[in-house]
Amino acid sequence: MKYELPKLNYAYDALEPFIDASTMEIHHSKHHQAYTDNFNKALAEHPDLGEMPVEELLAKVNELSIDQKDKNALRNHGGGYYNHKLFWELMDPSNKKDEALIKDIKKEFGSVDSFKEQFSETAKTLFGSGWAWLVRNEKGRLRVYGLPNQDSPFQKGHTPIIGLDVWEHAYYLKYQNRRPEYIENWWNVLKLI
Ligand code: MN
Repeated sequence: MKYELPKLNYAYDALEPFIDASTMEIHHSKHHQAYTDNFNKALAEHPDLGEMPVEELLAKVNELSIDQKDKNALRNHGGGYYNHKLFWELMDPSNKKDEALIKDIKKEFGSVDSFKEQFSETAKTLFGSGWAWLVRNEKGRLRVYGLPNQDSPFQKGHTPIIGLDVWEHAYYLKYQNRRPEYIENWWNVLKLI
């Protein structure tokens, strides 16, 4: 199967002033498009893997008996395809509060604020390019950690719940080197919690 760039359910300027329209447009129409195209290219070498749900492919990618170079391409571009798809969905302005998730966050982290603090700290201190993640681990417990590049929590057997892209391309036009300010402002566009 061939993956397509997911359409946004909202306009590029819908997240202003926290995320500017130019960043959204380039991030979606250029960066995400490139991950999607390169994912399709990598899958074209291994058509059987294209039949697998992307979540399963990302979970198994490191164990596949294929060239390391092909594995890297699937992990990087498949991860980039999936992570961004989730990212756009998380920031949909029509999202409502997820009361079940909020309840679980309070149970695991004490309060929504202390979760946010831990997640923000993870995002701020992640060296280089990557994502901060809230995941459910193999036992269904919520956990926070950072992963480099486009690596996916699925690779660890975990399910991604909330992901924050801290690659410079996600914020540089508006925030330049001020990653912490981008992170603090990002909570305004996450309506789920
Ligand atoms: Mn990105």
